[in-house]
Amino acid sequence: MTTPAPPPGPTTPAAPPGDPDAARSPGLALLDADVVTCRACPRLVAWREQVGRERRASFRDQEYWARPVPGFGDARARILVVGLAPAAHGANRTGRMFSGDRSGDFLFAAMHRVGLANQPTSVHADDGLRLTGIRATAPVRCAPPANKPTPDERRACAPFLAREIELVDPTVAVVLGAFGWAALLETLRDLGWDVPRPAPRFAHGAEVRVARGERTLTLLGCFHVSPQNTFTGRLTPAMLDAVLLRAQALAADAPGGR
Ligand code: SF4
Repeated sequence: MTTPAPPPGPTTPAAPPGDPDAARSPGLALLDADVVTCRACPRLVAWREQVGRERRASFRDQEYWARPVPGFGDARARILVVGLAPAAHGANRTGRMFSGDRSGDFLFAAMHRVGLANQPTSVHADDGLRLTGIRATAPVRCAPPANKPTPDERRACAPFLAREIELVDPTVAVVLGAFGWAALLETLRDLGWDVPRPAPRFAHGAEVRVARGERTLTLLGCFHVSPQNTFTGRLTPAMLDAVLLRAQALAADAPGGR
C-alpha cells in the first residue's frame, strides 16, 4: 500500500514567521499555531496557494508564505491596528502582517515616526522590525482575491480576532477602513462588549468607545493605508501620524496605561 500524497500546498516551511513577541506569550503562540494551519475557507486556501505558486515576476525567486498570517507586534500592546486581510504579494509572501508592500511601508514608517516601531521599513519577516505598544492584525488572515473577502469568510475567521483581542487586551483600536471597522464591531459584540445598535459608522477620524464591565476600548477610524488612498493623497502621512498620536494619548490615559 502506498502512502497518500500530501494535499497540494506551498513549498514554504510550516513554522510561523518570526515574531519574538508571540514567543513571549504562550496564548499568542497557540493562537498563531492555529491560525497558520487553518484551511477553513476553500476559496481563500486555493487563492493564497495559487498566488504562492505563480508569484509576481519581481518576486519569482522568493518562496511565498502562502498561508494564513498571524498578528504581529507587541504581545501586550495597548494599541491594536486592525486592517482588512493580507495582501497577495505582501504579507502572503513574507508571512508577516503588512510586511513587504506599499501599505506596510506607509504604516510602519508612521509607527516609526511616532516611536512605536524601531525602524521605518518592513521588507521581510526577519528584517529586525520590532513594535512597542502596538500590534497589527486583520479580521481575515488569508489573502482574498481582489482584496474582497466574503461575509462567510469574515465570519469564519472572526474567532481568531476574538482570541487575539482577549489575549492582548488593548485599550485602543486603530481601524483601517470600513471592512475592518464593521468586522471589529461585530466581533466585539460577540464577545459581549456594549456595541450600540445600529453600529457606529466608519469615518476617518471617527472615535467610538465601547465597554465590557470595567474594560473600555476606543475605536479610532482611519482610511486604509492602501496605495489607492496614499497615492491619491486621501490619506497623508500627517493624517496617519495624527491618528497614531491620538491612539498613544488615549492608551496613556487608560487605566494601567503603558
Ligand atoms: Fe482560516 Fe481565516 Fe484563512 Fe479562512 S481566512 S482559511 S478562517 S485563516
